[in-house]
Amino acid sequence: MYAICDLAAEKGVGILLDAEETWIQDPIDRLAIELMAEYNKEKVVVYNTYQLYRNDRLHFLQLSHKIAKEKNFKLGAKLVRGAYMEKERLRAKEQGVASPIHLDKEATDKDFNDAAVFCIENKESIS
Ligand SMILES: Cc1cc2nc3c(=O)[nH]c(=O)nc-3n(C[C@H](O)[C@H](O)[C@H](O)COP(=O)(O)OP(=O)(O)OC[C@H]3O[C@@H](n4cnc5c(N)ncnc54)[C@H](O)[C@@H]3O)c2cc1C
Repeated sequence: MYAICDLAAEKGVGILLDAEETWIQDPIDRLAIELMAEYNKEKVVVYNTYQLYRNDRLHFLQLSHKIAKEKNFKLGAKLVRGAYMEKERLRAKEQGVASPIHLDKEATDKDFNDAAVFCIENKESIS
């Protein structure tokens, strides 16, 4: 990832890290923050993806922005609703835990819209 980001920074292009299933997402998020802290000082090279069908991701977007401000880097954010709704719900049911996905489409759309507004309101520090 560092080699890829070095080349992207040199060529002036962005690197977008996709978001995947919840059970493999944490290390992706950690790596994204680490890379952003390294490469997003002047301009934005690295973007993390925020799946707004997850009921915790608006908060995570805001938390990521707080970390960016504290560590003095710019946040790169790609907003999506999310691609694995059925799989997530099935796994949560099988494991007997609460689903990480919003209960309905309206809740997903509300968080997506609120996330877009949050990014626009902070456009000096979020790309
Ligand atoms: C360029 C590109 C990159 C992408 N990258 C990613 C990525 O990195 N990670 C990823 O996960 N997805 C990714 N996607 C997929 C993206 O999340 C889906 O395409 C998107 O959710 C579809 O939304 P829509 O607005 O087009 O359709 P819409 O029909 O408006 O939205 C559908 C989405 O709404 C949500 N939804 C629907 N019904 C319900 C319900 N009952 N309860 C709760 N939520 C509901 C679901 O998330 C569903 O996928 C990417 C898509 C594109 C085009």
